[in-house]
Amino acid sequence: MIVVFFGAPGVGKGTIAELLAKKHKLEIISASGLLKKEIKKKTKAGKLISEYMAKGKLVPSEDIVPLIIKAIKTSKFKNIILDGFPRNIEQAKLIEEKVKINCIINLEAPEKVIIERLSGRRVCPKCGTIYHLKNMPPKKAGICDKDKEKLLHRNDDKPKVIKDRLKVYEKETFPLKKFFAKQKLIKEIDASKNDPKGIMKNVEKALGLK
Ligand code: AMP
Repeated sequence: MIVVFFGAPGVGKGTIAELLAKKHKLEIISASGLLKKEIKKKTKAGKLISEYMAKGKLVPSEDIVPLIIKAIKTSKFKNIILDGFPRNIEQAKLIEEKVKINCIINLEAPEKVIIERLSGRRVCPKCGTIYHLKNMPPKKAGICDKDKEKLLHRNDDKPKVIKDRLKVYEKETFPLKKFFAKQKLIKEIDASKNDPKGIMKNVEKALGLK
């Protein structure tokens, strides 16, 4: 089963996916995770990708789509979550030529909640674990519980870029909802409460996972 986690940046896609993966056998394929790996290779393509990401703009489909397809094709898991992909109609059409998407989990929260989540989000640069200063703090302030790395405040989680990312979402990603609605693939999940475990349980139910 291939499941798309859909929703605005900061709505909790990565957090809920991580919680699900702790409990169930599944692989999370994170679009921004794959892009960050490309940046680390320090290739010409990687440099261009980092420029798009720094501005909060979508990287071109020709860069992201092959990475996603390769990750799906080489996965050893039957159940896969796509986190942050597809993000526009072009990407959705390109991926559907290659693989069948079984379900779209649409996580919804008001913009005020999303901005609060993005600005308080901190990530571990080593293992990628996501924290929130108020809602999901690490045991020791500023330090990852798992590997004791210093947590980062992503540059694109700072106010100016947050605004641009939300604009990109409204203009390019949100219209995808209609596209998927026509295929009757969408399951709506209320992600407005700061209760990741409760939200995770509702996603579990929607996917029929036990
Ligand atoms: P995220 O962590 O999912 O909010 O993604 C961070 C940044 O990575 C975005 O602002 C984009 O620059 C880039 N990105 C992530 N997923 C995609 C995608 N599917 N298509 C294009 N760019 C993406």
